[in-house]
Amino acid sequence: MQYNALDMEGNKDKMMETTNEERLSVQYMYRHLGISDKVYQFSKEILDQLQPRFEEIDRTAEYNQLKVLKAMQDNKVSEACLLGTTGYGYNDLGRETLEAVYASLFHTEDALVRPQITCGTHALALALLSNLRPGDELLSPVGKPYDTLEEVIGIRPSKGSLAEYGISYRQVDLLSDGSFDYENIRKAVNEKTKLVTIQRSKGYQTRPTLSVARIGELISFIKAIKPDVICMVDNCYGEFVECMEPTDVGADMVVGSLIKNPGGGLAPIGGYIAGKKACVENAAFRLTSPGLGKEVGASLGILRDFYHGLFLAPTVTAGALKGAVFAANIYERLGFQVVPNSTESRHDIIQAVEFGTAEGVIAFCKGIQAAAPVDSFVTPEPWDMPGYDAQVIMAAGAFVSGSSIELSADGPIKPPYAVYFQGGLTFEHARFGIMKTLQSVVDAGIVQI
Ligand SMILES: *Cc1c(COP(=O)(O)O)cnc(C)c1O
Repeated sequence: MQYNALDMEGNKDKMMETTNEERLSVQYMYRHLGISDKVYQFSKEILDQLQPRFEEIDRTAEYNQLKVLKAMQDNKVSEACLLGTTGYGYNDLGRETLEAVYASLFHTEDALVRPQITCGTHALALALLSNLRPGDELLSPVGKPYDTLEEVIGIRPSKGSLAEYGISYRQVDLLSDGSFDYENIRKAVNEKTKLVTIQRSKGYQTRPTLSVARIGELISFIKAIKPDVICMVDNCYGEFVECMEPTDVGADMVVGSLIKNPGGGLAPIGGYIAGKKACVENAAFRLTSPGLGKEVGASLGILRDFYHGLFLAPTVTAGALKGAVFAANIYERLGFQVVPNSTESRHDIIQAVEFGTAEGVIAFCKGIQAAAPVDSFVTPEPWDMPGYDAQVIMAAGAFVSGSSIELSADGPIKPPYAVYFQGGLTFEHARFGIMKTLQSVVDAGIVQI
């Protein structure tokens, strides 16, 4: 047999000394992709210890795979559903069926799943702006929400914010140990409180991510004080990480992005809102128009990717999750603070690593970039991103621009110099990406292994 295709360095002599058996080993491939034997060995030893964790993740993926399949079968997804409509998009079978599939999956009365929802922030803004009215109050009992929501709410003034429409906002921070401040939450709920927003993922903070069970406890507490308050959960990065979703523990609405977990890496755009019929109807009337609601909104040719991506989402999420666990174990072993830590249970796919130096953050991001299938040859540099008070470095080489279910990392160049890493459409890719970060960090002389 000939393996000339693997002669990547054009080094004929060396190739001839290599036996076919060696050339078919993964270590040989890693070597050709710039991974030293030391990095390979170090990471392999860590990986070997993670098998029990990975089996647990696989069990969740298996459960969720069946859940997705059941929702698709129960709603009679057919070949015709994969086609699209144009123009007004009346009677779009594929769109209506997909929304029914999401409603089944999340055990909700209804859902809105659209390419016209441009991103996660848009989906959240839509849910908030459509379900709140002037004079109402929004409460976040879990501290500061995701950065981009500050302008939606009006914490930072912005055109069209909730504040501009006379909707007030109140926030109760988590206690220093990460627990809910029940006493102050009780005080914050008042006659104006109409909607409570709960962010499941830590986002780019270092607080713990909330488990679905904890979200359930919080919702029960709030509903006991005020039963008719709408409890909304920002579900970004959390979908399919557990066997339950927040709507299984009392959430009235869950909201998320299709270029994260539920799009399975295939959805090229989109967002979803699943929940009570009245909540989803409000959102639909705002997305399109009062009176039109869900009845319009052509799906164009995008539905196949939405279905296909949703079908793959449980296993894609599992791969990303294994990558996060792997990274936590590598960097904790090297003495860095990691959130979540190497053994904690996981409730989203984000992994934070605190390097304590700008060089560490930059080297890590360079490694992620060098592992990408797209744009692997470019070098990420810190830049002045709009809306941030420090320079930010980002690494991504994705098939879908900005997709963070694909392998990606970013970090603000400021203390504590933490990098936030997530994604990987396959565990094999996530694994390689993390090995590339380690190689990059080692080559930069930041750690020794
Ligand atoms: C990503 C994210 C958002 C915003 O989604 P975009 O698609 O980036 O607009 C909101 N909340 C959380 C927790 C997120 O992770």
